This record gives sequence, C-alpha cells and structure tokens, in this order.
Amino acid sequence: MKVNILTIFPEMFAPLRQSMLGRAIDNGILEISVTDIRDYTLDKHNRVDDTPYGGGAGMVMQVQPVLDAFRGSGCGGQVIYMSPRGEMLSGELAREIAAMPEITILCGHYEGVDQRALDALKAREISIGDYVLTGGELPAMVLIDTVARFIDGVLSSDESVMDESVYSGLLEYPQYSKPREYEGMEVPAVLLSGNHQEIARWRWKQSLELTAERRPDMMEEYLKQPRQLTRREKEVLEQYRKR
Ligand code: SAM
Repeated sequence: MKVNILTIFPEMFAPLRQSMLGRAIDNGILEISVTDIRDYTLDKHNRVDDTPYGGGAGMVMQVQPVLDAFRGSGCGGQVIYMSPRGEMLSGELAREIAAMPEITILCGHYEGVDQRALDALKAREISIGDYVLTGGELPAMVLIDTVARFIDGVLSSDESVMDESVYSGLLEYPQYSKPREYEGMEVPAVLLSGNHQEIARWRWKQSLELTAERRPDMMEEYLKQPRQLTRREKEVLEQYRKR
C-alpha cells in the first residue's frame, strides 16, 4: 500500500520508521512518501496560511500550496483529510482503507484548510476522536498505524488483528510473562497448568468481566451475537444477564 502524506511538518513522521511499521516499509509492504506543502507555496516569504475570509480568529491553510503539493508530488488514491469534524476512525473504517492500494493524507494546521482544496481533492474527512489537536500529523500517524495492522504481512504470522481488544467483540484478558513470581505477585495458577481448555475458559471469563465492567455498551452488543456457545460459556453469560 502506498501512503502519501501532505504536511507542513515532514520531520514529525520519523516515528513511522520504527518498530513494526519500519519493518513493513523495509519489506516493501508499506510505502510512505512525505511531501512538504511549504515547498510548493508561491509566497515569497514561504507562507502557506492567511487570514479567514469573513473574519474570525486564527489562520487558514491556503488552497494554492495544498493543491500544487498534491499535483506536483505524484500523490494519488483516496484523499483523506484528518479533521475533528470527520467521520470517526474505527476498526471497520481502518479495514476498508487497508484494502485501498494508495491513499493521500492531508494534515491540517491552524484553523484548518481552505474548503476549496478539500472540495477539489474530494477529500474524505476522518477524525481520531472528539477532541482537538494542534495539527493533523499525530492523527495521520494514528490512522496509518491502525490501517497497517490490517495489511497482510504487517503482523507476524501467528498474530491476528481480529483477536485483539475491541475487534474481537470483547476486551482482552490480562497477560503475564516470566518470572512466575515478582515481589510477591504471582501469575494466576491456571496459566501454569498446561490445561489449554481451562486456560481458554479462564481468559474468556476474564475478558467478559473486564468488558462488562469497563465497556457495558460493548458487552450488550456481544450478548446479542448469534454465536455457538458451550454449556460452560452459557453458564458464565447467564451470571452477567442476572446482574
Ligand atoms: N478549526 C478546526 C475545527 O474546529 O474543526 C480545528 C483545527 S485543528 C486546531 C488543526 C488541525 O488538526 C486540523 O485541521 C486537523 O488536521 C487536525 N486535527 C485536530 N483534531 C483532530 C482530530 N480529532 N482528528 C483528526 N484530525 C484532527
């Protein structure tokens, strides 16, 4: 997948070269191209923003540098404008984007981007949450990381993105690693038992408890699922229904 980024802070994208995304880039699964919008401004002082028509606080990113940066840097695919007024990022949306061969992400600053640039690029607006950040660079990295996990070959072969918290319909159970005991804190005995059925049942129960406690909305959805449950699973679920 090719991801083009249009930004006025290209150096902010250095973290994408780390960890799993860095490996995906090295392996050719992900191609990231970052363009500095400022390189395309016709303003002699290198400015890319100006005051809003109609008055009001702040500055607006101008249409000329944004459109010229898009056209001059070989960007293509669906244009995504990171914006707090956009549709909310979710696993479902990330999976839909992961199926696209190429996208271009536009990062806003100040009060945002001149609407004519968004219209000309047919930009789809996406928000990462109901809060406002200073710029679109961190939201763009959140989007790229979330999307990349749905691309074949980004996760190692024994990992499945759909087993994770939220996507599986439940929150994940607690995880433990070596040593067995640390400062008097023990790993739950069932995880050391070697009994895979018991371990699976314990993990599922922990997931249910955590989800019921922290995300009753998610629990409600989970209980509506027409899934085949074992007798033991039904017993546990009955306990929650009676609460
Ligand atoms: N004036 C804009 C508004 O009220 O909708 C907010 C502009 S914000 C200060 C500057 C830029 O940060 C936006 O253009 C956008 O690219 C990015 N941004 C801020 N919050 C965001 C969010 N929750 N999701 C995605 N992008 C966001």
